[in-house]
Amino acid sequence: MTASATWLQNWFNVGLGFLFPEICQLCGEQRATAEEGYVCGRCWSHVRFIKPPFCERCGLPFAGDLTTPFECANCREMALHFSAARSAVVARGPVREIIHRYKYQRALWFEPFLAGLLLRQTVPALQGQHWDLIVPVPLHPLKLREREFNQAERLAVHLGRAANIPVNKKLLRRVRFTNTQTRLTRPERAANMRGAFAVRGGARLDGERVILVDDVFTTGATTSACAQTLLAAGADEVCVWTVARGI
Ligand SMILES: [Zn+2]
Ligand SMILES: [Zn+2]
Repeated sequence: MTASATWLQNWFNVGLGFLFPEICQLCGEQRATAEEGYVCGRCWSHVRFIKPPFCERCGLPFAGDLTTPFECANCREMALHFSAARSAVVARGPVREIIHRYKYQRALWFEPFLAGLLLRQTVPALQGQHWDLIVPVPLHPLKLREREFNQAERLAVHLGRAANIPVNKKLLRRVRFTNTQTRLTRPERAANMRGAFAVRGGARLDGERVILVDDVFTTGATTSACAQTLLAAGADEVCVWTVARGI
């Protein structure tokens, strides 16, 4: 680098440091750089990666040293349409806080951190598996207008790039506005999501194997409704990957 380029680079870094001080955006105390996603080592230590044993179907982590495959009670009573759902980390503590700020306060500087959590688990897990397509869970156009970005879509792009799988952002659309589901029971959530999604322009899939991507997995009502729509359009199998899982 020439002297003037170095000078310019330094000047640029100083400028960035001024805009985004190298301080953890969560605790506001420890040092954290852009490369660390503005999350310090201490906050990082509270991140819980999901490891087996977990429910074969929905990925619910199970405390204990179960070694045989099992399906949790919820999955046995609910008709879920995806073949398996997996999440990178538990949606608690700093992760929950980061997702909230990323989504609702447009704290986009957390995106590399969240995408990093997802890729750390998906890239090794997807090795040796064959998937044709990545589809993000769509937002209703009204919600998209309000939020200005679809977090699932952005995370799907990171996964597509890392796993070298094409992303189709337009395939699935949300045709019905659904109110917040937090106060609904599991069966109510499933009923609430019925008919909420459609495949754009009546597109047909030709036996494709699809990875559905979202930020958080809660009961599986949303992702299951998406999976049902994709299967009805001709997909052969739909699995789900999310950054975090509510437990
Ligand atoms: Zn911190
Ligand atoms: Zn389960």
